[in-house]
Amino acid sequence: MSRVSRELCLRFAEARRAKGLRQTELAAQVGCTQSALSMFEGGQPTKLSEETVKKLAEFLRVPLVEEVSSPMVVPTNGSHESLNVVHGFCPNCQCPSNVPYVVDGRLFYRPSRTVASPTGGPRCTQCGELLEMRCPSCGAPLNDGACCAACGSRYVTPSITEEIDVVAYARMRREEIIQFRELK
Ligand SMILES: [Zn+2]
Ligand SMILES: [Zn+2]
Repeated sequence: MSRVSRELCLRFAEARRAKGLRQTELAAQVGCTQSALSMFEGGQPTKLSEETVKKLAEFLRVPLVEEVSSPMVVPTNGSHESLNVVHGFCPNCQCPSNVPYVVDGRLFYRPSRTVASPTGGPRCTQCGELLEMRCPSCGAPLNDGACCAACGSRYVTPSITEEIDVVAYARMRREEIIQFRELK
């Protein structure tokens, strides 16, 4: 099995909340302790065995593989250049830097970390929108994933109504984004 990312851990937490399950209930269901599950959901994937993670994935129907890679995430390589780089995410849900996916009928966007030079202003390199450098809801520092670990709110708010077929919408958008990235 490929390594479970911190982001995937948060996605499991989202999926559990969406099902209205408490950690104790889910832990009993997959046969682990509540504390291990809690640490796993908090971003420590090694707290659960591979087998338990597979059971969780099956039970919560969370895919264990990332559907779209994030080639636009620029790693800081420790060189002097990284000092001039500001990391943030683009709050525009139509922007190709935000990849939509659906968990139990709710639409989420996984923002790519966009980098911008402070001299040019912290703007999205894809669409020009001003980048958010902190959680727009509570001001907490950014974590990986679609939702703020501090307050649980979505970083990118969907502008479309969730009454439409969000699964079809997310699939269509992901295909568009893949094409867009291939063209670049
Ligand atoms: Zn953008
Ligand atoms: Zn927050």
